[in-house]
Amino acid sequence: MVVGDIPDAADVVVIGAGPGGYVAAIRAAQLGKDVMLVEKDKLGGLCLNYGCIPSKSLIHTADLVELFSMKHDNGISVSGVSFDPAQMNDWRERVIKKLRDGIAFLMEKNGVTVKTGEAFFESSTRVGIRTEHGVELVDFKNAVIATGSRPREVKELPFDGQIIISSKEALELRKIPESLLVVGGGYVGIEMGGMYAKLGSKVTIAEALPSILAQADADVVSLMRKQLQAMNVKVLENAKQTSFSKTSDGKATVKYSINGAEETVQADKILICIGHAPVTQGLGLDKTKVELDKWGFIKVNERLQTTDAAIYAVGDVAGQPMLAHKAFMQGKIAAGAIAGENVAYSDRVVPSAVYSDPEIASVGLSERKAKELLQDNILVGKFPLAASGRALTMDKRYGFAKVIAKKDTHEIVGVTVVGPSASDIISEAALAMQLGALLEDVAGTIHPHPTLSEALSEAAEDALGKAIHV
Ligand code: FAD
Repeated sequence: MVVGDIPDAADVVVIGAGPGGYVAAIRAAQLGKDVMLVEKDKLGGLCLNYGCIPSKSLIHTADLVELFSMKHDNGISVSGVSFDPAQMNDWRERVIKKLRDGIAFLMEKNGVTVKTGEAFFESSTRVGIRTEHGVELVDFKNAVIATGSRPREVKELPFDGQIIISSKEALELRKIPESLLVVGGGYVGIEMGGMYAKLGSKVTIAEALPSILAQADADVVSLMRKQLQAMNVKVLENAKQTSFSKTSDGKATVKYSINGAEETVQADKILICIGHAPVTQGLGLDKTKVELDKWGFIKVNERLQTTDAAIYAVGDVAGQPMLAHKAFMQGKIAAGAIAGENVAYSDRVVPSAVYSDPEIASVGLSERKAKELLQDNILVGKFPLAASGRALTMDKRYGFAKVIAKKDTHEIVGVTVVGPSASDIISEAALAMQLGALLEDVAGTIHPHPTLSEALSEAAEDALGKAIHV
């Protein structure tokens, strides 16, 4: 049923209210556009409701449970530690709601019309929105597609919402499973596996590739393997699934072949973390000139404009890396481009962070990638946290900072930090790279002492052959 004869109209229709969409909507409104934001589920998208925020809330809780349960060298021991998973989940929901209410407030403040419903293209200038009252039509001058991504399935282990679950269900569990098999050793799998291990599950992580965190440097991976082992997390690499069965007591049995040997894993829950696929189905893109690339992402240029000049795409649906802060930036750039600003997106400096224990954060090239691209023209400097005064005062000595620069110009091309607060420290490296900093700039910047961020300047000095504390 079509509601009303005369279509509504907006300068800009944004489809999807995740980090890409809601930011595009606010910025377009700030730039004087009349904006409508269409969301079929909840403001904040995957990141706020089922991804970044719930996972970090629960990881924080798991860290506290571990902290209070451990014996510490400095004399503290706490007895009688208990936690209630149901209360933990209520708290997670309150955190999310607070932030979601904040987005609703921002929409109102910026004069963005929010429409609940599922949008699809009727043409390159009109969308239909399926609402509870029927289909509403809206004409637009420009549209921004920010429909995000959905979890990929393992063909042999289709989601059933009970035993075989995605990260969404895993972040809403009100009971901690006795045993958990995490399929996929990428960043989400490592974060969730570590978190559930701290909350008491017996965790196995099965990765089909030869290594967990396949994109990371070997020193990062070997440290993470050791840490997972210390948390009693079993890591299976090169694991090819050979069979799956459910037992009468509601458990699952998965068999793997690992370099010819058979390994059997029994688990109460199987959490699939093998990545996400862009959401483009049902959008009616065939009614527009929007094209997809061979991986199914929407093709965009550096102004985030699709192959249909009136339509832009941002965030997970517009390609890798699938990260909220990339979506934020792309949302601002697409809105600026629509408003006629001279803006362009570059993927040269996009930091990423894994909220594992210890955290892993990086920006620019890994050492491996730098060697591949620049061959001998690189300098690498490293500073171990075992030599950091601040790390030792925090009793956190596992990790390092690594700075990679061009040998001829000393321009910094990549930084990796492993350790506490790595996700915050990496911002300094990102800013340095954004400003085209040289090793001398970071080494010559006075860092407060004792701090973890000193590791960056120490690593830069190491690359220059002038390390003081190692
Ligand atoms: P989304 O956030 O996916 O939002 C898309 C929105 O579009 C959804 O709300 C959806 O309902 C809506 N939509 C889709 N189709 C339609 C339609 N036809 N009509 C109307 N609405 C529609 N990234 C980080 O940077 N840091 C992290 O710590 C982090 N942690 C994560 C943890 C987990 C467990 C997961 C799964 C992901 C995590 N991510 C993290 C990734 C991050 O969530 C995504 O990169 C980010 O949400 C992408 O934003 P987006 O705006 O492109 O899309």
